[in-house]
Amino acid sequence: MNLAKIGKFIAEQRKLAKLTQAQLAEKLNITDRAVSKWETGRALPDSSIMLELCAILNITVNDLLNGEVTSVEDYKKEMEKNLLAMVEQKQQHDKQLLALEWVIGILSVLVMLVPCFLAAYLQMENWLRILLIVGGFVFGLVGFMCALLIEQTAGYYKCAKCGNTHVPTYNAVLLAMHYGRTRYMKCPKCGKWSWQKKVVEKD
Ligand SMILES: [Zn+2]
Repeated sequence: MNLAKIGKFIAEQRKLAKLTQAQLAEKLNITDRAVSKWETGRALPDSSIMLELCAILNITVNDLLNGEVTSVEDYKKEMEKNLLAMVEQKQQHDKQLLALEWVIGILSVLVMLVPCFLAAYLQMENWLRILLIVGGFVFGLVGFMCALLIEQTAGYYKCAKCGNTHVPTYNAVLLAMHYGRTRYMKCPKCGKWSWQKKVVEKD
């Protein structure tokens, strides 16, 4: 962010609006020293008054931060760039979640199996044996449910018939036959049943 450029831009726009520094300051309920600070590039307008400032100067916040009036065309491009960055961020995030699902899944298996082995091979009271097995089962089950929740919500399932990507309900995922992350489910778009692969990209 170029403070000097933004400052010059604010000064230009203020003059275009036929306001003195003092008049602008009064409208914003701040000191004219604050306005002078922005215009000389020593400070950025506080975010709490930025919207009001932009409304008075008849510019967008985007213009203010760029230090120039952006054309509608540029604005669209900027928006698309931001949107794309957001999609990429979601994909990255989904990938991390799916990796986490593996970790949780493996831990869940361990949490279920280890107490069973301990209960089977170690000397202990029977009540402790039961507690270990039941406890392991409960914690393991919770782990599996978390893992499945991640699988349901991270990314999408892709219909093998029409290519539509969608996020199914938790129950649909829970009850579907599957190998790995590929599940046999009904497509909400074409209504056909198929083996749907997990993907992170939306169609
Ligand atoms: Zn389909």
